[in-house]
Amino acid sequence: MNRPLIIKDITLVTPDEQGGASVLRNSCISVSDGKILYVGTSPDEAVQSLCLVAESNNESDDSQPPNIAGRIPEYDVYIGTDRILLPTFANGHSHIPMSILKNTADDMTLEDWLFKVILPRESRLIESDVYYASLLGIAEMISGGTGASADMYFMGEQTARAALESGFRLNLSHDGKINEDGKWRTDPHSLRDFRKSFHSLDDGLLRVSLMVHSIYLYPDYLYPQLAEEALASDVSIHVHLSETRTEVDNCIARYGKTPAEALYDFGIFNVPCIAAHGVHLADNDRAILAENHVTVAHNPSSNLKLASGICNVKALLERGVNVCIGTDGSASNNSLDMYSEMRLASLIAKGVFGNPEDMNAEDTLYMATRAGFCGLGFEHCGVIAPGMCADFQIVRCDNPSVWPVGNPISSLVYGTPSSAVESVMINGCFVKYKGELTTIDFEKVKAETLLSANRIIAG
Ligand SMILES: [Zn+2]
Repeated sequence: MNRPLIIKDITLVTPDEQGGASVLRNSCISVSDGKILYVGTSPDEAVQSLCLVAESNNESDDSQPPNIAGRIPEYDVYIGTDRILLPTFANGHSHIPMSILKNTADDMTLEDWLFKVILPRESRLIESDVYYASLLGIAEMISGGTGASADMYFMGEQTARAALESGFRLNLSHDGKINEDGKWRTDPHSLRDFRKSFHSLDDGLLRVSLMVHSIYLYPDYLYPQLAEEALASDVSIHVHLSETRTEVDNCIARYGKTPAEALYDFGIFNVPCIAAHGVHLADNDRAILAENHVTVAHNPSSNLKLASGICNVKALLERGVNVCIGTDGSASNNSLDMYSEMRLASLIAKGVFGNPEDMNAEDTLYMATRAGFCGLGFEHCGVIAPGMCADFQIVRCDNPSVWPVGNPISSLVYGTPSSAVESVMINGCFVKYKGELTTIDFEKVKAETLLSANRIIAG
């Protein structure tokens, strides 16, 4: 945990609790013990908030002499002139270790991409590949202002280890099933052990969920068992949903239902759920998702690149569905850049549905931050307000891409490159500070991931 901190003279952008976002210029915030204490325009009140928390800490610690009222604890100062402070992004859907496979399987359909290229390569991955690949993806996300992700992959212990070492927030979905000689079965012990090892670890940075890859990958009997297992283990579920027309057509042929209807009937939505994509949804599907409080992760780059289609976000929002933004894996994006994802999400909504008022900058920023944190189960993140976790990023505006700022929210959604992110704090710790990653040795990660990528791709 860093020392208490005051950030002064900064432009603050925060999502509002119920959607949209607001700007507070010439603002000041204070941070201590991983929490935001003060948000306002008075540096004196910010300092006072640090005194109050120091007093209450001393009162609860009998070994310490009582604090002298008004005594100012030591604290650091960050001058925020020509900078914007906003929450970190929450990436609603990722496959972080796929970062070592980026730029090696492009311009293909999802089915060819997945079954002919990706799955054979993934069968060659070993644990150390997944560990360094996870560090690589986390380094990319932190560099670009992302402080949390909902990740779906295998060898989750390695990704959990990488996230804990990096100080990164993660909703990590565990496989929790076994395929023996082509026959699938659940593996309840492994889910419970994984949850015991990692859930709520390190001051709540990690949350465990169960991976249900999709409606097309498993036999019928497995889905109710997975739903039961998630409920019994008190974990959420992460699933791909209606990503392609082929998926929907095959599901209707197999079950006489859409993927959302089939997953609902199997009980998959009985626990909190993140459903990635939602490209090909019927109106009844959207109603099911809304009624069951399913969060939809919209992944516009991946959906466009694989020619899967475009999610109708407006129709989901009108139904009251919580929609967040995700990058999907780097093997189909080909990056984990939430700035470019946010911009694209807004632009295609306007272009495709013919209304420039759709997905305005405020609502898009809300989706990339607060909506994502709520979907991931980190309810105390994603808003810059007293009592919330100190998870935020600081963006430099004194560069040709961003200057002059104009409306800060428009700037963030439409014009800011991820390279403008100067610092990132997660849970009160700077994981990027004034341009430098503080928790990841990127030179080591570079060397290890290049070796892994070359071996896996060579076959
Ligand atoms: Zn995916």
